[in-house]
Amino acid sequence: MANKIKNIVKNTIEKYKMIENNDRILVALSGGKDSITLLHILTKLGYEPEAVFINLRIPEFSEKSKQIVETITEETNTKFHIIDVEDYGIKIEKVPPRPVCSVCGIVKRYLINRFSVENGFSIVLTGHTMEDELVFFLNNLVSGNFEYIAKQKPVLERSEKVSKKGRPLFFVSESEIEKYVKENNLPVLTEKCPNSKGNKQERFKEMLKNLHPETKRNMMKNVLKISEKFSVRKEWNYCKLCGYPTESKDGICSFCKIKNYFESKK
Ligand code: SF4
Ligand code: ZN
Repeated sequence: MANKIKNIVKNTIEKYKMIENNDRILVALSGGKDSITLLHILTKLGYEPEAVFINLRIPEFSEKSKQIVETITEETNTKFHIIDVEDYGIKIEKVPPRPVCSVCGIVKRYLINRFSVENGFSIVLTGHTMEDELVFFLNNLVSGNFEYIAKQKPVLERSEKVSKKGRPLFFVSESEIEKYVKENNLPVLTEKCPNSKGNKQERFKEMLKNLHPETKRNMMKNVLKISEKFSVRKEWNYCKLCGYPTESKDGICSFCKIKNYFESKK
């Protein structure tokens, strides 16, 4: 199993020209099995990435996640960086009308992108699995947000102040990752985030659980074919406050709006 996953990851990286020779690679680590497996496989394939962990300050959960990340980065001899949401005055909680996981997603994406751009990394790799991609697809199918499906590609090229992104686990299933973790005795966080209970993502994942990985791989290949019919946005507006890209019509990015919300509550 370990070799099978390693080969799938290697093929995905090569087929989609994800990593070039002189790339400075940043891996986003959460402490969960997916990103830990990704880092482990990359180092086994001979890459020398650095890692970044976002301390979300979720009681107990973030502390345990951080310990796992410290252990795996030490074991794999990987340089690791921490970004703390507290330094931005942000808390991971509901910011009306956004639910907590939407706030968390915006904050993580923004901070990782900004860290990567400001520190000269040429690509950010994340541990999105086939199930993450299929859940994202189903969500957009439900809401009709077809333009988001354009982002479902193993590699998204960089543009001004947006780093290149890669998803080496695009064709790897979570059940395969679980086996890889066991075989390699990797330290991973087993607790779920207290905010994950009952969210839509979890319900869709439950639905996909009983499908064979090969069935999901076929589904992913077809999701990719659909995604290729849509093009990814290349022209951005830039936030009036922080200067980073935004799709917002009022010119203030979602991250700055969240930050302003907590500032106004002080
Ligand atoms: Fe963030 Fe929600 Fe995931 Fe918890 S479950 S880490 S709050 S996105
Ligand atoms: Zn901003």
